Amino acid sequence: MEEVFAITKVQLFEDGEAFPDSALVVENGIIRYAGPQTNAPSLEGITSITAQGCSLAPGFIDLQLNGGFGKDFTADPSVMIEVAQLLPPTGVVAFLATFITSPIEKYPEKLKAVEAAQSIQDDNLADSARILGAHIEGPFLNPITKGAHNQNLFLDPDSFALAFLQPISAVRLLTLAPERRGALQAIRELASQGVVVSLGHSNATTEEALAGISAGARYATHLYNAMRAMQHRDPGLVGTLLTCEEVTCGLIADGIHVHPRMLKLAYQALGAKRITLVTDAMAAMGMPPGRYVIGDQDVSVDESTARLADGTLAGSILRMDEAVRNMVNFTGCSPAQAVRMASTTPAEVLGIDHETAHLRPGYRADLVMLDRNLNVIQTYIAGKPI
Ligand code: ZN
Repeated sequence: MEEVFAITKVQLFEDGEAFPDSALVVENGIIRYAGPQTNAPSLEGITSITAQGCSLAPGFIDLQLNGGFGKDFTADPSVMIEVAQLLPPTGVVAFLATFITSPIEKYPEKLKAVEAAQSIQDDNLADSARILGAHIEGPFLNPITKGAHNQNLFLDPDSFALAFLQPISAVRLLTLAPERRGALQAIRELASQGVVVSLGHSNATTEEALAGISAGARYATHLYNAMRAMQHRDPGLVGTLLTCEEVTCGLIADGIHVHPRMLKLAYQALGAKRITLVTDAMAAMGMPPGRYVIGDQDVSVDESTARLADGTLAGSILRMDEAVRNMVNFTGCSPAQAVRMASTTPAEVLGIDHETAHLRPGYRADLVMLDRNLNVIQTYIAGKPI
């Protein structure tokens, strides 16, 4: 497939900065040129799209997606590809299929389903958002901060339980509470196997949080939500995350899970390089209000929230493009910074920022074109408009 095209007179968002009057050339799914329009290579004979007034950014990567469009990954892992095909209009080019707490013996079948879906995607050249692997959220969580998880299934992350996480190569990210017995050893082991360990659904004290980070945890799952709160004499997990340099934090920017002012606080403390916008979206994302499931639990969804019968928030119905717009509106950050939190920073967390999530020559042309109001106009996966 020999294919070359150029997008011209466009603003580029790269690494948190905006570059107006630019051009980008894609050849066989790879970026060949990204830079000033005036320095662009000759475009003679090349399909050229003029995109005046628009911006081009690395496509969005969602590290926490439970499902969407009526489908739930935990309840039925076979729906991953279907959801992946529907994600590009939200600007998402890649994601981690997130599985909430399930019976431990069920994990191998979920992880095998992830590998099977990935190999189907490898065979069928890009026509859907890439499944980068699994985000295992639970069962090594604290009942005090259980959120919508089933605490009857919670376990200590001992070697018996960890042995169910097979194939381990499908696990890219794993959320646990560092105060659980055996958690520090588990963090060291998982990190040595290439899993990004995330602190979350945790009532960790400052000392417990620091111990988790020392053991190798490098991410935190939905900062503020399902975490021990910050107090002035007891910073706890939240206060530790906001003030340490080693950890990047996921943030649900729907204005409901976290108050807009607390989003602003996170942005001021962490900056765009240490925040990843996540949707934590569940089956009702992209669907009308009604009744849905997450894992084995029933969820009621109205115009803005998804809740269990007792009122607990059970994931969101947020789209990633909305999260980006919200972040600009709530924190006053620039569009380029908001875009970084949805693309480059999550790629850095997973260690794939050497091949995607930058507008640089040699990188995969996983792109999103946005209008002035940051609405998605077009998404490209490996250079293919979807
Ligand atoms: Zn959660």
